[in-house]
Amino acid sequence: MSLLPVEAALERLLQLAEQAPIRELELLPLAAADGRVLATELVAGLDLPPWPNSAMDGYALNLADWTGEPLPVSQRILAGQAPAPLRAGSCARIFTGAPLPAGADTVEMQENVELLTDGRVRFNEPLRAGQNVRPQGQETRMGEVVLPAGTRLGPVQLGLAASLGCALLPLRRRPRVAVLSTGDELVEPGQALGAGQIFNSNRSLLCAWLQRLGCEVLDAGILADDPQRTREALAGLGQADLILSTGGVSVGEADCLGQVLREEGELALWKLAIKPGKPLTCGHYRGVPVLGLPGNPASTLVTFGLLARPYLLRRLGVADVAPLSVEVPAGFAWPRAGQRREYLRARLENGRAELYPNQSSGVLRSAAWADGLVEVLEGRTYAPGDALRFIPLSELLA
Ligand code: AMP
Ligand code: MG
Repeated sequence: MSLLPVEAALERLLQLAEQAPIRELELLPLAAADGRVLATELVAGLDLPPWPNSAMDGYALNLADWTGEPLPVSQRILAGQAPAPLRAGSCARIFTGAPLPAGADTVEMQENVELLTDGRVRFNEPLRAGQNVRPQGQETRMGEVVLPAGTRLGPVQLGLAASLGCALLPLRRRPRVAVLSTGDELVEPGQALGAGQIFNSNRSLLCAWLQRLGCEVLDAGILADDPQRTREALAGLGQADLILSTGGVSVGEADCLGQVLREEGELALWKLAIKPGKPLTCGHYRGVPVLGLPGNPASTLVTFGLLARPYLLRRLGVADVAPLSVEVPAGFAWPRAGQRREYLRARLENGRAELYPNQSSGVLRSAAWADGLVEVLEGRTYAPGDALRFIPLSELLA
């Protein structure tokens, strides 16, 4: 059976996302908007800067007015003050960020002038009209779109919105994502570990990650591999925008989630050309979209980061969902071409990608050690020094 290439899977998921946009808006103060998605474009309601101002501490003058002779100082302008028009044949003492007085067009920095004993100022260096002046609107003109709809907001965007005087921003509502960890073997940290049991790592990984993505997490806990329990658990998740499960998608497993989805929804089992993370389920339960990620924690990480994350962002109207990546030289040899695209946990050391020695899909420690994922293409071998795409984990986790 042929495997679905990563790009094809992503494209399908993004199509599904566009068919199920989360459109509702809420108007929130800047302080509550970090990590959220802007619902409508942000248009500048004023010029920035709103008036020409000084880029330096110094003296403002009208260059046309200056004969080369020292000028008297007619006013002193601090940031926050509204100056009077510049008196002809004079200069103004001015400080950084203070508005230029009407009639002035040039600022000389204080280091380049000489203060005469009679209080006049001699300009010792050649002057250029407009020097050290920040013109009105040099950053932004009123009416310009400064942030498009679908922008993910971070500290920089919030600072920019604040500079334009926006107190409230229209945001897409948070997606409600239900997180289900399937597996009879799972127990939560803090509980006693019985024979054959392991601690649930995916729940903590995904819940924290989803919160960073601006989602509201409906933590549905551990789901035993039991059809009736699965039915009950899913029945309580009708409010979710997405049901995100881990585990129970391997072939030949007592696949309870799949069974319930076949009864009350729809289910597609994808076999992806990706490693770690080959099996993925995609479907819906009573109209609620479901993504079932593989259970091995490194597989959960890779499939969430490369597939579920962009899917969720696209449901919020984010256009550019691809993580930033860079090309780096391999610090290792990859002599045997594989059938699946591999995302190896790697560190950048002296500018080269070095691999964590154990790349098993169950080893989450590989990702804790790594700076990012290097992409080894299917059907390819690599020699040390060959270029590879490197996706920083900080980019995926942001
Ligand atoms: P499954 O896809 O259910 O066959 O799980 C694949 C592997 O991942 C098994 O070794 C599971 O024990 C492990 N696994 C599944 N879910 C989790 C989880 N939430 N935390 C840690 N390991 C898990
Ligand atoms: Mg399982």
